[in-house]
Amino acid sequence: MLSGRCHCGAITYAMSEEVMHCALCHCSDCRRHAGAPMVGWAMVRAEQVTIEGEPTVYHSSEHGRRHFCGRCGTGLFYVNEQTLPGLIDVQTGTLDTPEALPAQVHIQVAERIAWMEDAHQLPAFARYPAG
Ligand SMILES: [Zn+2]
Ligand SMILES: [Zn+2]
Repeated sequence: MLSGRCHCGAITYAMSEEVMHCALCHCSDCRRHAGAPMVGWAMVRAEQVTIEGEPTVYHSSEHGRRHFCGRCGTGLFYVNEQTLPGLIDVQTGTLDTPEALPAQVHIQVAERIAWMEDAHQLPAFARYPAG
């Protein structure tokens, strides 16, 4: 089992490692809701996730429901009973061990920020550039 939580810890969860797939989503809904260039997701059957605490649910589209911590704002889950019945997407950045679920694909790249395509080629620093 894997565990995860929001930043403040008001919401914690446990989930199976048996996920259907792991993706980095570049859609504008994920980007804007997370306030981040892309969002990592792992899709699992809803019964394989146990949630402690009460996420706030935001209707981000007609059937899309984004669950986040109403105290610290961390995005946690996505549910769409219309298109993905019985499934839940978990934001992999909230796992205690995010390395456990490597991303397998980029999705929704039609909406990707153009500079994200080459972001892996940018100069990298262990902390900050020496000033
Ligand atoms: Zn929180
Ligand atoms: Zn998305």
